[in-house]
Amino acid sequence: MSALSSEGGEGRSRPALSPARAAALKPLLDAFVESRPWAERVRADPVEFPHRYDDPRDVEVVALVCASLAYGRAELFKPKLAWLFDRLGAHPAKAVQALDVRGAKKLLEGFVYRFNLPADLGVLLMGVGRTLEARGSLESHFVASLATAGTWQGALAGFAGGIRAAAPQRQLVRALGPTRGLAHLLPSAEAGAAKRLNLYLRWMVRGPDAIDFGIWKRIAPSQLLMPLDTHVMRIGRWLGLTRRSTISWRTAEELTASLRLLDPLDPVRYDFAICHYGMSGACPARPVKLNCRRCPLRGACQIGRRLRDPSGG
Ligand code: SF4
Repeated sequence: MSALSSEGGEGRSRPALSPARAAALKPLLDAFVESRPWAERVRADPVEFPHRYDDPRDVEVVALVCASLAYGRAELFKPKLAWLFDRLGAHPAKAVQALDVRGAKKLLEGFVYRFNLPADLGVLLMGVGRTLEARGSLESHFVASLATAGTWQGALAGFAGGIRAAAPQRQLVRALGPTRGLAHLLPSAEAGAAKRLNLYLRWMVRGPDAIDFGIWKRIAPSQLLMPLDTHVMRIGRWLGLTRRSTISWRTAEELTASLRLLDPLDPVRYDFAICHYGMSGACPARPVKLNCRRCPLRGACQIGRRLRDPSGG
């Protein structure tokens, strides 16, 4: 287990919740997470793909590719992922280790998804393959990045940067054409909240349960940072988990610090439910009174408390 502080990596952020508000929120949020069939939402989530594999090496490789491309709408990026995994075959970890530039060109011909072209994906896949050759697993690569950096943010940057650097970028660009959004595909974690990398870490570290895998045993769930997207940002703010109004690393830290008051050992266990509550339309960006009246979080939500309920219900 890493010796890093469990305080979200850097230990700087204070919770936005007071201990009294955290004590009031905990039973509501625990019931919200435990009483709904969230596992049914896996089909609407990129985590669906790694659940198709048994070998932990395949799971960690497939999950990283899924998390990297999980931007934009799921109905747009999931067909791209399905196309790719179909071509990679039954053992993606072995396939990426065997991949050379010529193989990458053949594999990725015709691929395009928003900011990313074949060369971007070629760097990701060959970088992962060579990292597996050098380290044995992506977990070992992350643990080494964490030991070097000493902070969660630095570990994520080292993890992504190490994979990028392991790939033969020049040869890939010569053979497959230019990269377009490599920095977006494998972000540096120095700007923004690094949502997709933190999501990947959640999948690998916490659990196992119906959603997360828990296959990385050298990192503790208490070290994880909330993967902060627009849904978690919005609902988290309405629940008082953060006072900040922008999606940023500091906001992810503050929100995680608040959730750590509810569950110090596993603060990000609330992530899937909160995120999918927003994604499903149950709690849209423009609040809907009818939804708020039925909402189990209403008593803790600044919007729910503010809305007047003519029925008194
Ligand atoms: S009360 Fe309304 S705004 Fe608040 S979390 Fe529930 S649905 Fe969303």
